[in-house]
Amino acid sequence: MTELIMIKYGELTTKKDNRKEFIKILTQNIERLIKEEYEIIKDNSRMYIKCKNVNKISKKLQKIFGIHGISIVHKVNNNYEEVLNNALNIMDKSKKTFKVITKRADKNFEISSMEYSKKIGGLILKNSNYKVDVHNPDIILNIEIRKEGTYIYTDELKGIGGYPVGVQGKGLLMLSGGIDSPVAGYLTMKRGVNIECLYFESPPHTSEEAKNKVKELASILNEYSGKVKLHVVPFTKIQEAIYKNCPDNYMITIMRRMMYRISEKYAKKIKAKIIINGESIGQVASQTLESMVCINEVTNMPIIRPVATYDKLEIIDIAKKINTYETSILPYEDCCTIFVPKHPVIKPELEKAKEYEKKFDYEKLINECISNIETITDFKENKFEDLL
Ligand code: ATP
Ligand code: MG
Repeated sequence: MTELIMIKYGELTTKKDNRKEFIKILTQNIERLIKEEYEIIKDNSRMYIKCKNVNKISKKLQKIFGIHGISIVHKVNNNYEEVLNNALNIMDKSKKTFKVITKRADKNFEISSMEYSKKIGGLILKNSNYKVDVHNPDIILNIEIRKEGTYIYTDELKGIGGYPVGVQGKGLLMLSGGIDSPVAGYLTMKRGVNIECLYFESPPHTSEEAKNKVKELASILNEYSGKVKLHVVPFTKIQEAIYKNCPDNYMITIMRRMMYRISEKYAKKIKAKIIINGESIGQVASQTLESMVCINEVTNMPIIRPVATYDKLEIIDIAKKINTYETSILPYEDCCTIFVPKHPVIKPELEKAKEYEKKFDYEKLINECISNIETITDFKENKFEDLL
């Protein structure tokens, strides 16, 4: 008998054309997490990992996108006695009822799946005190018959689903210290997008603590891909220029137009195809539909807003689940919260925004910002282990 981890791909199997690429990237993402000797055996619908610490590694796999189910399986030879003995061995002794579900990948096998389940079920009844319950069993005994052997397992851990990070190329996440943008990043990674993060800071109006908080959030997101980078934009001069030259009520609109311009330019530079942010319809003055129209006007790049339609409480639920919430609520000032006007315009007019921002040479300031971006990649790795 060999003990292995079996992975079910789920959604991947429906994507016939890309399947090879998906499996390749999923394998790379899994390999990143295994620090011991291992062997990976793959086919079109399953992956098996041979390693020593099956329990620990199967828990780690619960953080990998593209995996829908994780089970510790026993691989035995295709004979009834071995299957029976191993089944009895892995079935929980404290439970009373069971049901057998058989799948045959090897269609040439001598009997049908139904007959096989019946036969093994009968043998278990004869050799133990378990009773059969086909509707509501305490134990489901899964048996998969394949050419190379028979795989037996009872429990399945749920994977987090989605697509392997990397199958969709790269996106640039506008990452603030708030609750929404890390959740937006997580949801986008779940669809297979690799992300790098852009954070606008305005020292000395924003603190080193605020930056560390964003770094911490980036490091939590990094656990899902290992490829996250945090690019820090020195935004002070632009904010001060807006403060000096533009009317109070348009300051946020214009600041966000600047953020989008910088994000687009930088996204192109790092070859990211989309921009992602944590905007949510109606949440604040700059996220009304009118504001979105006026702010979005500066770029043609697709802007993905994964939480656009979520209630704040729904976003908070995800933030708690992915462990970013506690960091997000730390009370440090963000560049959006300084220079905040009392009455930001709720329905900004594009022509006015354009006119006000002409009052300073923002192109020059934007280029200066971009050439002074600092990139951080030294994230702590242990976060992941902490979650286990
Ligand atoms: P909160 O969770 O408190 O709403 P937030 O981060 O969502 O915080 P908003 O003012 O709602 O803040 O900003 C909307 C979006 O704009 C953010 O989700 C984020 O994607 C982007 N953004 C805001 N401020 C910054 C910043 N300083 N750096 C990078 N992106 C930012
Ligand atoms: Mg928000």
